[in-house]
Amino acid sequence: MSLPFVDLEQQYARLKPLIDARIHAVLDHGQYILGPEVAELEAELARRAGARHCLTVASGTDALIMPLMARGIGPGDAVLVPGFTFTATAEAILLLGASPVFVDVDPRSYLIDLADLERRIAATRVAGRLALKAVIAVDLFGLPVDYPALHAIAGAHDLFVIADAAQSLGAQWHGREVGSLAPVTATSFYPAKPLGCYGDGGAVYTDDDDLAVVLKSIRVHGAGESRYDTVRVGLNARFDTIQAAVLLAKLPSFQDELAARDRVARRYAARLSNRVQTPVMPEGVSCAWAQYTIRLPNRDAVKARLAAAGIPSVVYYPTPMHLAEAYRAHGEGEGSLPVGEALCREVLSLPMHPFLSDADADRVCDAVLAALDGSQ
Ligand SMILES: *Cc1c(COP(=O)(O)O)cnc(C)c1O
Repeated sequence: MSLPFVDLEQQYARLKPLIDARIHAVLDHGQYILGPEVAELEAELARRAGARHCLTVASGTDALIMPLMARGIGPGDAVLVPGFTFTATAEAILLLGASPVFVDVDPRSYLIDLADLERRIAATRVAGRLALKAVIAVDLFGLPVDYPALHAIAGAHDLFVIADAAQSLGAQWHGREVGSLAPVTATSFYPAKPLGCYGDGGAVYTDDDDLAVVLKSIRVHGAGESRYDTVRVGLNARFDTIQAAVLLAKLPSFQDELAARDRVARRYAARLSNRVQTPVMPEGVSCAWAQYTIRLPNRDAVKARLAAAGIPSVVYYPTPMHLAEAYRAHGEGEGSLPVGEALCREVLSLPMHPFLSDADADRVCDAVLAALDGSQ
């Protein structure tokens, strides 16, 4: 019997009455664009994160593009970004004509390496070709970055900080929620993310009132005070009312789901951590466990053996951004980000969702241990 990598079917089966009622309420009132559920959701998400503003948008990718647009970042500007991330983080920078400066990641946390960040800042400054403007930090696999340490470096170099929290919504850093840890936080509601809707979606969080006004304008074609008064170049980046309704139905159980993911992660760690590199769990920091990612040298052989045993696993990610075909002209080639390059050869994400039973988690661990024994 095969078990699922994520289990959206089971989540829907549990929440069906709530989700169906919320969707039908939208069909009844018919306000499909920026209807009342959008404002209700934004208020609730802002409250939960302890942020002044939460603006829902059409995707996590738009949530990254919009703050860069709002800051006027474009050609000639450098934006620092980890090379080991999902493609959208780098894409947002390049879409605006700005230049990504790829930074390596820490070999244990997989998050942006702050010592390497300082080296890349210094090197970009010495080269003198680009204006350093911003850094996008990624809470990869659901673990928040050490934002206070990042802000200290960013502040010293006058860099704007954007948190890519597409995978970490619901996580905390020493009692503070994701969404309030950076001047701007972008998240995603893609179905498989910790808080997923039934299509594409995302949100931008900020405490900055002026920035919130600009982001709101960008979301609807750069509209000014009145709708057909176009004051800037914007996007069509609204979040559908029906999708907001889905998230409102899912929110009451979100905390329980995060706790259930954490239980799965601890069960995996107890069984696997003396055989493979398991994720760090820093004191005082919680993880949203978008992925549970182990690191092992014989990754491809283990992955094949898991598949044969009916256990799905996925490689997030097989290629670092500086070696991606579309982006490599902006990087420094093979060997320039040694940690990220090694991770792309060695990481493997295991099934992770709130409904994974102890028995199924044990089945995954048994299969990983057997695959390790068989692939030596
Ligand atoms: C999913 C993801 C995004 C993009 O979100 P979409 O909603 O798919 O556009 C950006 N960054 C990271 C790290 C992601 O995992």
